[in-house]
Amino acid sequence: MIAYFDYRPEYRKYRDEIDEAIRRVIESGRLILGPEVEAFERECAASVGVEHGVGVNSGTDALALALRALGVGPEDEVLTVANAGVPTISAIRTIGAIPRFVEIDANTLLMDPAGLERARSPRTRAVIPIHLYGQPAPLDPILAFAVAHGLHVIEDCAQAQGAHYRDRPVGSFGEVGCFSFYPTKTLGAFGDGGLCVTRDAGVAERLRLLRMYGFDERRHARIEGVNSRLDEMQAAILRVKLRHHGEMIEERRTIAARYRAGLAGSSLGQVGLVPDGTHVYHLFVIRSAERGELTRHLGEAGIGFGTHYPEPVHTMEAYRFLGHRDGDLPITERACAEVVSLPMWIGLPDAEIDRVIGALAHQR
Ligand SMILES: *Cc1c(COP(=O)(O)O)cnc(C)c1O
Repeated sequence: MIAYFDYRPEYRKYRDEIDEAIRRVIESGRLILGPEVEAFERECAASVGVEHGVGVNSGTDALALALRALGVGPEDEVLTVANAGVPTISAIRTIGAIPRFVEIDANTLLMDPAGLERARSPRTRAVIPIHLYGQPAPLDPILAFAVAHGLHVIEDCAQAQGAHYRDRPVGSFGEVGCFSFYPTKTLGAFGDGGLCVTRDAGVAERLRLLRMYGFDERRHARIEGVNSRLDEMQAAILRVKLRHHGEMIEERRTIAARYRAGLAGSSLGQVGLVPDGTHVYHLFVIRSAERGELTRHLGEAGIGFGTHYPEPVHTMEAYRFLGHRDGDLPITERACAEVVSLPMWIGLPDAEIDRVIGALAHQR
């Protein structure tokens, strides 16, 4: 059986440093919002080339708090895509705002800027481009559209930490960049975690208040906040992994290159590469019009796989109130019906990659 995802080989590779970080935190007598979180916030923001970092409990919280920090609220509309799973939509709904979906590009499966105007209304306040699978969304035209219509831009970098757009790290383009340290992400914690980065000192200050009950230093609630903190243990582990993040991304690229070369002659679809960006391969995704048959075959061959994501958000039961019907976003719907994610993790042996390629040889 080839695992679809396994964090343990990565852990074993860096075990000495990680174990030492865990021990250091437990011995320190400080478990919440201490020096490890502060250092990680600084180091992570610096890796993006931005001044401020604010650690929170998850990537979903990072998005919700970013929206609140920018003043987006109930009944405001937020533009994003429907093929990137529920978390981003859940964050928008948490603050009572309304998601409006932009159609995607059929080749890259990223937000298509040509669809922005159709999704916009007088109530639109923000746009959240999602850097899906590890590639940057087309930020130049999205930012230009946002400037033209006075919209806030929050980047959803949950899948693309370490990726670049026109030689600059993702997360440095929008007013806030949001990251997730969910274990499968390219920088994964041993639990939940998230972070907002921003150049704006005022936004950073509001994020710090929001993540802990709106408290100032005297535990006086200045604004209404929540509890969404990154803990010292996860921060200390993430500091270790951030030091090795570059080499981990290189390994993901090597795995992806082997898949791409091995599948080049097959009739399976691949996700198009973005000319202006670099790819960090959070996921390696292929496409098949016969997905049911393909995944059955992978299962029989003992190969783990994922589908990201099997259903677009706009047709899910919970979001019926948005008033969508099948066929509203045909490119999004087709992509969700075709995508399959192949095993992709640090330590995945070449022989296993080749076995996956071999199993796909005669699939369509
Ligand atoms: C993982 C993910 C999130 C949310 O991150 P969590 O830490 O799991 O809350 C948001 N957006 C996208 C695109 C993601 O992949």
